[in-house]
Order: sequence, then structure tokens, then C-alpha cells
Amino acid sequence: MNDLIEQAASDLLESRYAIVLTGAGMSTESGIPDFRGPKGIWTTDREAEARAYERYSLFLRDPVAYWEELPGRKGTHGAFYNVVGRAEPNPGHYALAELERLGVVKWLITQNIDGLHRRAGSVNVTEYHGTVHKLRCPACGSRRPLEDAAPENLPPHCGCGRAMKYDVVHFNEPIPPDVMSEAEEQALKCDLMLVCGTSAVVYPFADLPRAAKLGRAEVKVIEVNAEPTQLTQEGLSDYHIRGKTGEVLPGIVEALRKRSRGPGSSLPE
Ligand code: NAD
Repeated sequence: MNDLIEQAASDLLESRYAIVLTGAGMSTESGIPDFRGPKGIWTTDREAEARAYERYSLFLRDPVAYWEELPGRKGTHGAFYNVVGRAEPNPGHYALAELERLGVVKWLITQNIDGLHRRAGSVNVTEYHGTVHKLRCPACGSRRPLEDAAPENLPPHCGCGRAMKYDVVHFNEPIPPDVMSEAEEQALKCDLMLVCGTSAVVYPFADLPRAAKLGRAEVKVIEVNAEPTQLTQEGLSDYHIRGKTGEVLPGIVEALRKRSRGPGSSLPE
């Protein structure tokens, strides 16, 4: 594993425009369970998966019932959002923020809805599946802080008159067009993609590594994951660093700093 960490540090230093893709595995070390890992919510509770598929249609049908599951309220989603609300960034989140600060990573696209990348200091972030910390109007696309959802007056309403939902993108809900085009632009611009803690089976997110490589074999895709994924099995990733993101990513930062130490280094202190 150490050789691959060294290899990743070297590839990152040589890259022109490196971006990062992340998934739920990034935040398991912050105490937020993933969906499909060995201890994932759906691995241990199949009905939770079925309920998740109902969230968007519930909002369309009955926005008041949808909002019954606000953080602090009852239901699977309420409990999950409470865990998210208490979570803190882990060393993996801080390592990615450090790679951006050093100018090595230019952009990060996350499927996570927990807001932990921004909390750790990452700035150039696309939240592909939205965030629990905001509201979004599915009609006009405008967003507001979650605090605007007054518990005594649900559902919250947008200035355009429509009911608002969590900014979170539920199953069977389209990805907001602004987010979709930002992510695609970044995927087509990059020459290196570091893919961390995602099983890469949720679409259209999982298409981003494919889009990056299409007609550009020189684009490197590096995976950091506790287990092999769809990308590993299809040979889409150039290599897979098997391990925890909270250990591997700080290791990459350390290796990268060692390599760039000394006169002539272009990295900030
Ligand atoms: P997933 O559950 O399908 O896959 C997680 C992957 O990460 C698995 O391959 C697992 O082996 C790996 N993993 C788990 N812990 C790890 C660790 N410490 N280090 C390295 N790898 C680790 O997750 P996904 O691919 O992101 O797709 C699930 C969907 O659920 C996403 O759309 C996401 O929005 C949502 N989700 C978000 C959160 C969150 O915001 N933290 C949590 C659960 C689910």
C-alpha cells in the first residue's frame, strides 16, 4: 500500500488539473454509516432502502408528511439526519482540504450530503446530491438555509410560491441542472481524478470517471476504498489503494510534502 501512496503523491504533483470525487465511505470514520459497505444502512436494513426510494414521491404527493421527518423528529430519515448533524470532519476530509490549499487539487465533487468537506476547509466543492443544511425549491431551483424551515409552519415555501424540500437529491429525483453541468465541466477538464469512498454504483454520478476517460486515455483515475468497486472491476481506475480514507489520504499528503520539500518547491508551507 505504501508504494501506491507514493505513486499517488507523485501523480498528483505531476498533474495539471486534479479533481476529487467522494462518497459515503469518506464519512464512515466520522460516525455516519454508508449505504452499501459491510455495516451500511441498507446492508443491515433492506426496508430502509425501499423507504429511501419513496422520499421524492412522498414530497410530490404530501409535502407536510415529507417534512414530518425533520431532524429531531421521528423516522429513519430523521434519525440519519440527527447523526449527520452531530458528525465532525475526520482526517480524510482535512487531508483533501489541505490538498486544495496546497494548490494540488482544484475541485471536489461529493455525493455526500453531510457538509463535512466544507467544514474541513474545502472551498471548491460541488455537492452533487445536495446537502441537509439547505432547502431547495424543485420548481425554480433557489436555495435557502435549512433554518428557514420553521417547525410550526411546514412545508417551507419558496418566494415563487412552491413548497420547498431538502436540497438533498432523493432517488428518482433529477440532479439540479446547475450541479450537473458544474460536475461535467470539471470531469472533462481534469487530467487526474482521485475517487474516494464510493461504491460507484449510483448514477449519473458514477458516469463522471467514464466521462473523464472517454477519448482521453491519459486521464488517471486513482481509487481509495476499503474494498474493490465497480470501477476497479471494470478496469476504469488505473490503480486502487485499498484502505481507509482517514488513513490513506493523510498518508498521501505526507508523501507529497516529503517529495516537494527543499529549494525549488512550488508548494506553499
Ligand atoms: P456506498 O455506501 O454505496 O459506498 C461506500 C463505499 O465506501 C463502499 O465501497 C465502502 O466499502 C467504502 N468505505 C466505507 N468506509 C470506508 C472508509 N473508511 N475508507 C474507504 N472506503 C470506505 O456510498 P456511495 O457510493 O457514496 O453512494 C451512496 C449514496 O448515499 C450517495 O448518493 C450519498 O449521497 C448517500 N449517502 C451519503 C452519506 C453522507 O453524506 N455521509 C451517507 C450515506 C449515504
